[in-house]
Amino acid sequence: MKLVTFTHLGDTRIGVVADGEVADGRHAPVPQEMIALIAAGQPALQALKVLADSKAHRIPLCEVHLRAPVLRPGKFLAIGLNYLDHIQETELKPPEFPVFFNKQSTCVNGPYVCIHKPRVSDKLDYEGELGFVIGRRCRHVPKERAPEVIAGYLIVNDVSVRDWQARSKTLTLGKSFDTHGPIGPWIVTPDEIGNPHTLDLKTWVNHELRQSANTREMIFDCFEQIEFLSTAFTLEPGDIISTGTSSGVGVKMNPRGYLKPGDRVRVAIERIGQIENQVIEEPDSTALL
Ligand code: MG
Repeated sequence: MKLVTFTHLGDTRIGVVADGEVADGRHAPVPQEMIALIAAGQPALQALKVLADSKAHRIPLCEVHLRAPVLRPGKFLAIGLNYLDHIQETELKPPEFPVFFNKQSTCVNGPYVCIHKPRVSDKLDYEGELGFVIGRRCRHVPKERAPEVIAGYLIVNDVSVRDWQARSKTLTLGKSFDTHGPIGPWIVTPDEIGNPHTLDLKTWVNHELRQSANTREMIFDCFEQIEFLSTAFTLEPGDIISTGTSSGVGVKMNPRGYLKPGDRVRVAIERIGQIENQVIEEPDSTALL
């Protein structure tokens, strides 16, 4: 199933995408918020499947506003330096251990919503990545059992502000500007993905193909990432982990391929779909004072 969070006529809830339509989750006896839905586990997913198979209570996809599937994940982690060709373009050494950093959960953005070019930087970059969503509370998960704790897969654009990223070893500031975490367009359940380590992944800026890779090229695969992270802390339903980017990022192009207002960034992953976000100047409305 393709699980979505959507807004229709001012009301935000969950649903299942099928045949260009959304099966409206409020006609199933399930929580209407994604983290609660995921936490409710298999009985809730089964009830949604019954709804989707009934072909009733459908809304055309073009009439809804697709939101980030998880609007505010408890954790939004991402791994750096996880594709060899990307490591080579950075001229860094392959890491002995997975290099994780936090994206603040406030940076989460919808699959088709604008990305802000910050007022303070022109070094705005993209990183197309496969992400996965944790399905149940877990700790000390051996990699062999990691598939049991994955609710599904989605696309992430790990938008990065390169100068701010370099100002701190945690990378957090440069990885967490508001709007810099587009995710979606939906969460694809593992039964529709099969092996997550065989997926083609591509990123375009406007019509130019910038990144082209396959998830088999990851150094630490999804299951090893879960084993590693859950050694340190509890993972919870709705947590999002982004699995790293391949070569072709703007900062390593000559001349640099940074994003400018008006650009459109599209990330597509086989068996999931695509997200596309236009870049705009950071609007005045971001100031809350
Ligand atoms: Mg990244």
